Amino acid sequence: MAAFTVNLAFPELKINKVEETDLAITIFADTQEAGVNCQACGQWLDRFHGHDDERYVQHLPIMGKSFTLCYRPRRYLCTTCDIFGITTTATALWHYVKSSFTYEFEIQLLVELINSTVSDVAIKNGVTENKYKELWIDIWQAVLTGIHLMFYVY
Ligand SMILES: [Zn+2]
Repeated sequence: MAAFTVNLAFPELKINKVEETDLAITIFADTQEAGVNCQACGQWLDRFHGHDDERYVQHLPIMGKSFTLCYRPRRYLCTTCDIFGITTTATALWHYVKSSFTYEFEIQLLVELINSTVSDVAIKNGVTENKYKELWIDIWQAVLTGIHLMFYVY
């Protein structure tokens, strides 16, 4: 079988294993970021505490196969917060914290919705309608946050 290399262009990603079936490719990887800002005090945290549960994030299809990235987000411990043992999870840079899709795949799903329906786009991309609706909730939250920030700034 002929093979070739694809540059994912995702920073701080170390690929550990690749599984491929007739319909899907799944990459198991670790992120390598140096730290994260504390969710409580905002201080930069670089003291590694452990991993979160696995997250499966769907990316653009490759060669007609669905393509999923699986990683365990790193958690960092804050030693200066009043709340002892508070940790913050570092989210990979290539997806929104609550999303099941990469930013690139989210854009494709939205563009395909032009002159189509949610059901059609979900079926064509192997995405459940619930996951697709979660994407819309994320977008509306981002829009509302942006509006809130606009009022806050002005
Ligand atoms: Zn803190």
